[in-house]
Amino acid sequence: MTDHYAVFGHPIAHSKSPLIHTAFARQTGQDIDYVALLAPLDGFAECVAAFRAGGGRGANVTVPFKEQAWRLAGRRSARAELAGAVNTLRFDADGLFGDNTDGAGLVADLTRNLGIELAGRSILLLGAGGAARGVIGPLLEQGPARLTIANRTPERAVALAERFRTLGPVVGGGYEALAGQRFDLIVNATSAGLSDELPPLPDRLLGPDGLAYDMMYGRNTPFLRWARAQGARCADGLGMLVEQAAEAFWLWRGVRPTTGPVIAMLREGEAKGVRGEV
Ligand code: NDP
Repeated sequence: MTDHYAVFGHPIAHSKSPLIHTAFARQTGQDIDYVALLAPLDGFAECVAAFRAGGGRGANVTVPFKEQAWRLAGRRSARAELAGAVNTLRFDADGLFGDNTDGAGLVADLTRNLGIELAGRSILLLGAGGAARGVIGPLLEQGPARLTIANRTPERAVALAERFRTLGPVVGGGYEALAGQRFDLIVNATSAGLSDELPPLPDRLLGPDGLAYDMMYGRNTPFLRWARAQGARCADGLGMLVEQAAEAFWLWRGVRPTTGPVIAMLREGEAKGVRGEV
């Protein structure tokens, strides 16, 4: 019997998740299918309920429903609880279990795929939206020397730092406070690139051998262009996308797919001009 999974979002048409999970299933011999479903903005819970009633076993959740998914889940992992957002639902006999695999996906991409040591490093996180919230806990778990959150609306960054302060050295504020500071890693978790914009970053923020990581993928964002102009090493969020999917696959199936060939397949697709969102 084939088990059914889906990703819910709005918009969702260009999601790469069906491609990724279909590749994982083929690689691991798991009998599943996985589709992208457009939920109406005011009908997310109803869509999930209908999918579950029809035999669905679990789902991924993307913009703008991650906080609604958090509320929908009767039980949540500790990392989802802290993030206040759920990107993975597992339909158990006793109800919905919610997890957030975004942070684990980012950390896996940084440490395993890009070979970055996070312990003792200075990290700058740009943005204080849903994506930022999902990665703060897992980044702090790696033991950085400090994690600074900068956001266009500084109060949101300050509130986030306060929420996570028991997990490690984290501070929040606005962009103007960054002048004169140096970081080993800058992670762009803003959606500024969607409108071809760049947060107001001072020059010389990255130390020697620093890495600039844009969670967005599939486009040459102003952030990546800024980082290249600083002479920095750059990476986009495609690896994070595949790694967060692998973590969801593990939660559903108890099997860990090998991510490298799937990332390579998507890079090949990108090179041929295929674009998409999570
Ligand atoms: P949200 O809408 O929740 O948050 C957007 C954030 O970007 C806010 O902090 C907002 O600041 C900031 N922002 C928006 N426009 C600008 C601008 N012009 N200048 C400066 N800051 C700006 O979005 P998400 O957190 O859900 O997503 C953020 C990005 O991360 C998206 O591009 C998404 O595609 C990507 N992502 C990638 C994943 C992957 O697997 N690779 C997984 C999840 C997300 P303010 O608070 O002031 O409004």
